[in-house]
Amino acid sequence: MGVEGGEVRRAPIFFIAVILIMLVMSIAAFILAITVYLTQNTVEYMNIILSASAILLSIYLLLQMRRRTLGPSLEPLKVLTVIRCVGCNYESRREFERGDYILKEIGQCPKCNGTLYIHSIFREVKEKEKTY
Ligand SMILES: [Zn+2]
Repeated sequence: MGVEGGEVRRAPIFFIAVILIMLVMSIAAFILAITVYLTQNTVEYMNIILSASAILLSIYLLLQMRRRTLGPSLEPLKVLTVIRCVGCNYESRREFERGDYILKEIGQCPKCNGTLYIHSIFREVKEKEKTY
């Protein structure tokens, strides 16, 4: 189960590599434009604008990707059913099953033989998802 979560969350390495190459090349073009300015005293506006926007774009893409891989959208959703007893304080939880509905009677209490019913059904929210 831990392996599965890691698989889902792994960042697309190829995509990151392409963006990093783009970032390095645009930084190189930016430095080149500045050296041209310093040595020949001519300003290559197009080069500076293009390389600067390429740098910003690749940084933006990297940040977006980072946020998406940490976000909750890739977490597998888990729906839980809470089962309670009418007679005592017995409570148990299990994964939601098809046909579950609230107040459905589903057997006898192992503690007091009272009737067990479905108290609530909810989607599990992990603590780390709230930071999104
Ligand atoms: Zn009970």
